[in-house]
Amino acid sequence: KFNTKIGQHILKNVAIADAIVTKANIQPNDTVLEVGPGTGILTTRILEKAKKVVAVELDPRMAAELTCRVQGTPSQQRLQIILGDFVKTDIGNLPPFNICISNTPYQARLLISSHLIFKLLSLPRPPQTCILMVQREFALRLIARPGDSLYSRLSVNAQFFARISHIMKVSKNNFKPPPQVESSVVRIEPKANRPSISWEEWDGMLRICFVRKNKTLRASWMPSKVRAMIERNWITWASMYPQNVTEEDSNFLLGKEIPDQLCDAETDEEMDEPPEAGEDNDDIFANEAGNSGEGSVRASAVSEAALVTIGVNRVPRAMVAKLILLKIRRILDQTGLASGRAMKCDENDFLRLLHACNAEGIHFS
Ligand code: SAM
Repeated sequence: KFNTKIGQHILKNVAIADAIVTKANIQPNDTVLEVGPGTGILTTRILEKAKKVVAVELDPRMAAELTCRVQGTPSQQRLQIILGDFVKTDIGNLPPFNICISNTPYQARLLISSHLIFKLLSLPRPPQTCILMVQREFALRLIARPGDSLYSRLSVNAQFFARISHIMKVSKNNFKPPPQVESSVVRIEPKANRPSISWEEWDGMLRICFVRKNKTLRASWMPSKVRAMIERNWITWASMYPQNVTEEDSNFLLGKEIPDQLCDAETDEEMDEPPEAGEDNDDIFANEAGNSGEGSVRASAVSEAALVTIGVNRVPRAMVAKLILLKIRRILDQTGLASGRAMKCDENDFLRLLHACNAEGIHFS
């Protein structure tokens, strides 16, 4: 009867259902979003307390069963079932709600849980409380602190935007049919005064830091692919906001001035990977910048493809690569995080890192 391919593992323990709903501390004026109501073990309990329930359900059979269950009861008018895939639902277009409760679908549960959490947290007005049943390991990752083995990008992101607590463990025999993994219920309370930084920027930077969370940040930031990505972003940004290219950067790009640190950067022994063939083309760099420390770029000396537009100037791409190397080095040195490791850094370290990057004109979105 239940379709486990779409995560239908129905909660059968009514005491757990009661506990989940109680933990949400629902008041008579609250509207609750429920994702995946199934046959309604949670929904009916929520309806006893809330003003309204908006339930998003993928399976029409489940939606029909739930509709029958409330038909003719006083709750009927207060339940709105939206048939569809929550992953594809524009959460901003749902009726307003201030609490979210979900026994998240088990199929691709990690994916759906993380999708749900970040959809909720990125709302301009997120719900005050979310009570979610998730896979145990996912719950432990959500609450992991720096240094814990499960500390990850998910932990930093979630804890940056919300207070998270583990409410209870739920073993698999409380479901029909039992899933393969253990579960936990967590409470997520979005922070009232959320830091005013762009989610894309923050997450984009964390992605770089956590690719190799046990390595030093210098090692995570130096691989050529990472630098190339930062370089592309910087080029886009510097082309759009030429007035923000500092005089120092501009001089550097035009070959008028080569900061001393460049020598260090070039011989940086901690660079994890050597530049790939064709990258950091030192010949072009030498020709165009000239070691004389003066003179502007001669566009004719390099192919069009190797030139990029920064503000009103056309400069060799290899020169930009050198500048980015220098900037990364400066950021890591200034923040004191060059030898820090993502798995040990807390949100203040990451925030410092992001501010230093932005001050250097480095963006991640
Ligand atoms: N809330 C019920 C309970 O606690 O017993 C059912 C929970 S069951 C783990 C997950 C429910 O989510 C199922 O009813 C399933 O059909 C539904 N579901 C699965 N994928 C979904 C999706 N992408 N969007 C909305 N609902 C989904």
